[in-house]
Amino acid sequence: MTQQHPQPDDRVVIVGGGQAAIECAAALRMAGHRGQVTILADEAAYPYARPPLSKAYLSGRATVEDLYIVPPATYVQQNFDVRLNTRAVAIDRRSRSVLVSAGERVLYDWLVLATGGRARTFPSAEAQPAANVFTLRGLADVDAMRDQFVPGKRLVVIGGGYVGLEVAAVARETGLQVTVLEAAPRVLARVTAAIVSGFYERVHTEQGVDVRTGCAISGLTFGADRQAAGVTFADGGWLPADLVVVGIGLIPNTEIAERAGLPVDDGILVDEYCRTDDPHVLAIGDCTRHPCTQHGGFRRLESVPNAIEQARVAAAVLTGAARAYDAVPWFWSDQYDVKLQTVGLLAGHDEAVVRGNADVGRSFSVYYLKDGEVRAADVVNGPRDFMVARKLVGARARVPADRLRDLATPLKQCL
Ligand code: FAD
Repeated sequence: MTQQHPQPDDRVVIVGGGQAAIECAAALRMAGHRGQVTILADEAAYPYARPPLSKAYLSGRATVEDLYIVPPATYVQQNFDVRLNTRAVAIDRRSRSVLVSAGERVLYDWLVLATGGRARTFPSAEAQPAANVFTLRGLADVDAMRDQFVPGKRLVVIGGGYVGLEVAAVARETGLQVTVLEAAPRVLARVTAAIVSGFYERVHTEQGVDVRTGCAISGLTFGADRQAAGVTFADGGWLPADLVVVGIGLIPNTEIAERAGLPVDDGILVDEYCRTDDPHVLAIGDCTRHPCTQHGGFRRLESVPNAIEQARVAAAVLTGAARAYDAVPWFWSDQYDVKLQTVGLLAGHDEAVVRGNADVGRSFSVYYLKDGEVRAADVVNGPRDFMVARKLVGARARVPADRLRDLATPLKQCL
């Protein structure tokens, strides 16, 4: 009979083989967990970091080995039972077991769901799969598009979010002709303010990308070879394409939790300790929605820092040192020579203070204030300012807008 409190020799099963899963396993061992740790991972590759997929890996500057979260030898050294190509198909919470694709039942004392998400597909691409229409979530997606991702090809990117814009940047650097189609009135509309969107539209245009916003796409057209030939618009227009990359967001992989009767609502619902409704089941990373102490409400975050932090919180719960998740969210994106670093969420500000000039050059910051407090910041090509920005946001510092704006005042003096 399993104890209600975690013991160092308990069996932990982690479903998923991404950043959250591996970080959780590593944190368990770091905290002295001795028991069996089984990682059920449905991909063929050893667990890898996804951010380089749309950056260094797509451009050919990084190899698969460069992407590994830890060297494969670590799994043996740490005595992790990593099962690649192994899909968890069902959870039986009564017998505390997971049914895997090969038919075996894996018993657990504690189960951690780290199932991440999958790329949202475009309806007409889903209806008629074509060998030149891609999404980008895993290594296999990049490998599949590589032969067609060559100079001179006409690439249409559907979706002006981070992934779409990063693909556009690598494509231009590789020599493709690139058009980005965004349905919203501006790129990155979901995640940042208009001034930052405008900056990225300018940068991409300067790099030769045809950026089109407010696009009402009605579907794809297909040639006799069943390949996509172009994109059609609601106004009757048509744009030819040699390849199409769809970057329109993520669907969290929640089905296994839902079938097990765990509460799910655009993410597996967890508390600030990453616990689901079942005390023996935790969930971490992109697949979860959790209470956000910093900005209120339940949030589903899609970022490596969130995956790592939730993994550590879950491992702390399982090693008897529970601490609540209260990290300030942060993100980054690399496009061309531009590094964007964001801290906090864009969740209702009453003033956006710009430090520097977003219309000229490639370095500036925006500080988002609510009731006089710095609640979020976007920092473009300013790693030092970003360190300060994290502190300002973490402390909800009250800094007069004039001071933030004044380039003659070093930002650290605002602390
Ligand atoms: P995932 O990485 O999605 O891992 C989940 C794993 O579980 C997957 O391998 C999945 O196949 C597997 N799985 C799912 N269901 C099962 C099952 N039933 N059985 C077994 N295995 C299963 N974040 C940033 O912070 N900065 C960036 O610059 C950035 N760039 C990105 C670029 C791209 C192209 C992509 C796709 C993502 C990027 N992200 C970035 C997001 C970041 O990669 C994710 O937030 C992070 O990978 C989340 O980790 P995770 O472990 O929660 O989920």
